[in-house]
Amino acid sequence: MSARILDGKALAASVRASVKQAVAGLAERGLRPGLAVVLAGSNPASRVYVRNKARACEETGVRSVVHEYDSSVKQDDLLHRIAELNADPAVHGILVQLPLPPQIDSARVLLAVSPEKDVDGFHPLNLGALLAGTPRLVPCTPAGVVRLIEHAGIAVAGRKAVVIGRSNIVGKPLALLLLQKDATVTISHSRSVDIDSVTRQADILIAAVGRAKLVSAGMVKPGACVIDVGMNRLPDGSLAGDVDFDAVKNVAGWITPVPGGVGPMTIAMLLENCLKAASS
Ligand code: NAP
Repeated sequence: MSARILDGKALAASVRASVKQAVAGLAERGLRPGLAVVLAGSNPASRVYVRNKARACEETGVRSVVHEYDSSVKQDDLLHRIAELNADPAVHGILVQLPLPPQIDSARVLLAVSPEKDVDGFHPLNLGALLAGTPRLVPCTPAGVVRLIEHAGIAVAGRKAVVIGRSNIVGKPLALLLLQKDATVTISHSRSVDIDSVTRQADILIAAVGRAKLVSAGMVKPGACVIDVGMNRLPDGSLAGDVDFDAVKNVAGWITPVPGGVGPMTIAMLLENCLKAASS
């Protein structure tokens, strides 16, 4: 039997429609949510992501401004711009597109963003709030994954969840969100031993690694929910996830496609965070 598809594209469209309605409500009170994006360097993937985010903002009525810098930008220039954006009442959300050029200390730059405007949820204060079980602005990709799972009516409480990947922007916050939903959570990573035996126990298996087709059918428990966060560009230019979709769909109960799964949800959650930051 083939797994049911978790359609991130459709769910994201409905989230965007709700955000658009809420933004129209704020407009009646004279408030327009504003997002500032700081983009440094010429990473082609970053440029595509920023373009997609700006387009989604435009569609929902969120004002977005991109502040662009070339790859030789000085850290002080970025910090100065962030200080200006922190003080600007028309800016409710600030997003620093990663990766930053190598001469920049990314952690230092992310720390400079006001936690109230940190719509990516990467500021240590927001990550700390998540750890403490009192989440405020939550990282968008993890939030999108959990929304997809819950929207499908998949039980999380008491289930075994395995997250492959432990980055600060996906793996760790996702594990914390699932823990908060009462899952029993395991995190695996590049130093994990016998990863297949760990993943085979997962009722919910999430791959956030960046290796095409890392998750094979033999790593999946029959009927499990498999979420693919990975976005890998193949030599022929096509996009592939971390999961071997064609094989795993015959074992899993639910599965996300790439593209059309987690990616659109990330942007939808960013819009929700902008709305939240503007409304609070
Ligand atoms: P990252 O910072 O490179 O982290 C990758 C993680 O995978 C690390 O924790 C690493 O372990 C682990 N890993 C590497 N090789 C492994 C292996 N063979 N077995 C098990 N674990 C392994 O990446 P990221 O920023 O979290 O992103 C992960 C993927 O998600 C990428 O493909 C990225 O493009 C994609 N992504 C998608 C979205 C979206 O909206 N769809 C958003 C963000 C990211 P160590 O910690 O031990 O090195």
